[in-house]
Amino acid sequence: MDFRKVQFCLSAHTVGQLPPPEYPEVAFAGRSNVGKSSLINRLVERVNLVKTSGKPGKTQSLNYFTVENTLYLVDLPGYGFARVSHQTRQKWEELIGGYIESRSTLVCVVVVIDLRHELKELDRELIQWLRYLDVPCLPVYTKADKLSFGRQQKHAALLDAGLTLYADQRIIFSARTGQGVAALRQHLTTYAAS
Ligand code: GDP
Repeated sequence: MDFRKVQFCLSAHTVGQLPPPEYPEVAFAGRSNVGKSSLINRLVERVNLVKTSGKPGKTQSLNYFTVENTLYLVDLPGYGFARVSHQTRQKWEELIGGYIESRSTLVCVVVVIDLRHELKELDRELIQWLRYLDVPCLPVYTKADKLSFGRQQKHAALLDAGLTLYADQRIIFSARTGQGVAALRQHLTTYAAS
């Protein structure tokens, strides 16, 4: 699958605005500023397909892209930004919760996590909730270039333990160096045919 053959499709602000469920879709979730936009841009080899965030927590829409008319990529709004209002947080939960619970064509949620930091409660909760709903989830530990190889392994093992998963169930990634991008493409390609 050629991820460079990507096209913007639409932005949905409510579940009612989602496109018809024509293709399987992979959604990307993560805390604000974690590097989700950079990861998507690296995946599709575009500098600025997804705007890297100036204002964390601002985007409240689901942005849909198609790849080769066979797969949707869905950029979800970032979560966990401390300074958003209670109302904005509630809107996120309603929109994303409603989307994840109801979208029958959702085949995988890529959860982007910063490799350098301790596991955050919101990330753990999201992954537990996806498991409960039986939605496949792929944790991707990003910003790996900021750590030595030895530290990457050590930090990844801690995150794995916190999420109770094995090394082959997640990817260590860097948008800067491209580490892990081939593994991510390979993983997502398996969903295009589903
Ligand atoms: P988003 O809010 O999750 O979409 O995060 P962005 O993609 O906008 O990235 C937030 C900041 O982290 C930006 O300054 C990026 O340049 C930086 N960043 C993102 N990914 C990486 C990475 O893999 N390595 C490094 N060193 N910096 C990154």
